[in-house]
Amino acid sequence: MSDTKFAQQGMSFRQSVEHMVDHAIEIMDLDAGIGDALKVCKSVIQVSFPVEIDGHVEIFTGWRATHSDHRLPSKGGIRYAPIVDQDEVEALAALMTYKCAIVDVPFGGSKGGLIIDPKKYERHQLEAITRRFARELIGKGFMSPAKNVPAPDMGTGPQEMGWMTDTYRNLFPDDINYMGVVTGKPVEHGGVRGRNEATGRGVQYALREFFRHQDEVKSAGLEGDLGGKRVVVQGLGNVGYHAAHFLQTEDDCKIIAIIERDGAIVNPEGLDVDNVALYLRETGGVEGYEDATFQADGSSMLELDCDILIPAAMEGVITHENADKIKARVIAEAANGPVTYSADQKLQQRGVVIIPDAYCNAGGVIVSYFEWIRNLNHVRFGRIDKRFHEARGQKIITAIEMATDTKIPDWLKESIACGADEFDLVRSGLDDSMRLGMQEIIEKRRSNEKIEDYRMAAYVIAIEKIARTYRDIGY
Ligand code: NAD
Repeated sequence: MSDTKFAQQGMSFRQSVEHMVDHAIEIMDLDAGIGDALKVCKSVIQVSFPVEIDGHVEIFTGWRATHSDHRLPSKGGIRYAPIVDQDEVEALAALMTYKCAIVDVPFGGSKGGLIIDPKKYERHQLEAITRRFARELIGKGFMSPAKNVPAPDMGTGPQEMGWMTDTYRNLFPDDINYMGVVTGKPVEHGGVRGRNEATGRGVQYALREFFRHQDEVKSAGLEGDLGGKRVVVQGLGNVGYHAAHFLQTEDDCKIIAIIERDGAIVNPEGLDVDNVALYLRETGGVEGYEDATFQADGSSMLELDCDILIPAAMEGVITHENADKIKARVIAEAANGPVTYSADQKLQQRGVVIIPDAYCNAGGVIVSYFEWIRNLNHVRFGRIDKRFHEARGQKIITAIEMATDTKIPDWLKESIACGADEFDLVRSGLDDSMRLGMQEIIEKRRSNEKIEDYRMAAYVIAIEKIARTYRDIGY
């Protein structure tokens, strides 16, 4: 993946990220040594291991990179994909470092990848492969609750995270904090409610906050709120589905096109995201979906006339070649690295607003942070104080009714006397983090005329925070 689109432009994914960081460092008054220390990937391992599949031995190869450990644990997903390499894993690990800093999650940055097409394997085979991969990472010091905590990414989900946690627990049965070794686990096995939807939910919260700043919306050439905005989504997987679903059902956006592996479906009146997701699950593609026109050349639909484009599949899809043809006024980078460095320059010249990946898809790591805290605390959020807050709300209602001699309507009573459960608290924490992140980015861009766009503002914020840590505690 990174091989193709990025290499065609003579620049790898990692180099593309480094270019963006270099640009940010240039406009900051930063000691050159700190810039160099910041960019380098601290450690990376490659593992190759055999697994018996249907009587044959297959060799699998994967990587885990730790880009930074100024805060521990280092954090980042593990992706399963047919094409993944060390360069891509290092680029993604670097993005994790900046992402955590932007949204104030106290983790370093890491990432992992395994060369595999998970669709080709049965469940028990995937379990054997995942458990073996986890043993390799644990044995080499690249997976533990204190130092390096994986999460899901492309091609992995709660199931793989559950197997990894169990593998660690079997190796370290005395580690009372074993649950914190991985995030994105099934809720029944230490996961936190709201993690699965978190990245897509975060994309929705990022867009909501952007649309609260009408001067910014106007400068993008748009107006009004999210209601009725025409949205194109690429990739209806975990991130793309949840972003599209929430934007459609809660913000009245029109999802006018969905681009998947086999092509794109388009309906200017809006697609029913849940129906399309069901169809995709049943048939493996979007071709043949009723109520829409099908385009075999799916990626050409990135150029469709729309207000918001959400690339949520993979890196390097908006490039030097198609950047000038993109008509969206706002690009919300739900995927990591969907816009290459040269495409970024072109889009910026045309005034297209890009909500950058390092902030836009941070919802996953924010809620992973909540899950990790929950695991170390050994208690579900809301378990201790939910009923206490409900009882207090009830007393406030009674006091108001007695003092004013009026009845508060039942619907209002219910919301006042409602204690927050884990879902409510996770959503509230995610919303708060995404709002603050966007506000900080907007303010930073306005504070310095050399900072031309949100991506640069986001990197400057991240680099300032990381540099401060380096100055305080050393490298
Ligand atoms: P996923 O595997 O659940 O979904 C990816 C979707 O994209 C699938 O529906 C797949 O069919 C589709 N797709 C793949 N190749 C495509 C192509 N060439 N054209 C169109 N569609 C294509 O993966 P995900 O977890 O949703 O991750 C998507 C992106 O978001 C990745 O860049 C990932 O790094 C990033 N991300 C994910 C998380 C997370 O919590 N899962 C967090 C942060 C960032």
